[in-house]
Amino acid sequence: MRFDVFTLLPEVITPYLNSSILQRACQKGLIDVGVHNIRDYTHDKHHVTDDAPYGGGGGMVMKVEPIFEAVEEVLGSPPACPVILMSPQGRPLTTAVAQELAALPRIALLCGRYEGVDERVCEHLVTDQISVGDFVLTGGELPALCIIDAVTRFIPGALGDPDGAYDDSFGNGLLEYPHYTRPEEFRGWKVPEVLLSGNHAAIARWRKEQSLARTKKHRPDLLDDYDL
Ligand code: SAH
Repeated sequence: MRFDVFTLLPEVITPYLNSSILQRACQKGLIDVGVHNIRDYTHDKHHVTDDAPYGGGGGMVMKVEPIFEAVEEVLGSPPACPVILMSPQGRPLTTAVAQELAALPRIALLCGRYEGVDERVCEHLVTDQISVGDFVLTGGELPALCIIDAVTRFIPGALGDPDGAYDDSFGNGLLEYPHYTRPEEFRGWKVPEVLLSGNHAAIARWRKEQSLARTKKHRPDLLDDYDL
């Protein structure tokens, strides 16, 4: 799968891609990420990418021309794949959205800064808007990395365990059960007996109970859609 990230801060994106599972996914050829600096698509002496908002008020707005030029030069006109704007006003990023995107061959991720992008970008270039939560960040770079990370986990071969992404929280509609590793006892706190029993049926049952109990406690809303 190919990701094209459009940003004013490419240096924020690259280090995360060059670590751990994402780096391995790149090396295996499962994903390929192009990072494009929107500033490279300006033509004025000072490479201006933002300007004051019409109508007044604080903050700056990302200019429409460099964004169109960057996206159209890389992806054609109209763009050859979905162009997703990172925005607190977008649809929420969920496991279902990550799976939906993982089925696509290519997506573009557009990162805003300042007050966001000129609205004409949303109206005439962007095909989707995604939010990582009901809070406002200073830029779309972390949300873009969240999408790349969450989507890559659903690309076959990216995780060591092929079922991993589906067993994790939300994969089957519930929060996942708790995990323990060595030592068996730490400061008097013991690992639950059942996990040491070797009884796979009992372990599976305990995990399912734990999963349901913690979902009820922390995210009862998830049980509304879960077939008990
Ligand atoms: N003025 C805007 C917020 C701009 S924040 C508003 O009130 O709606 C600057 C940029 O950060 C946004 O353009 C977007 O790309 C990114 N951003 C901030 N919060 C985000 C979130 N929760 N999800 C996705 N992107 C976000």
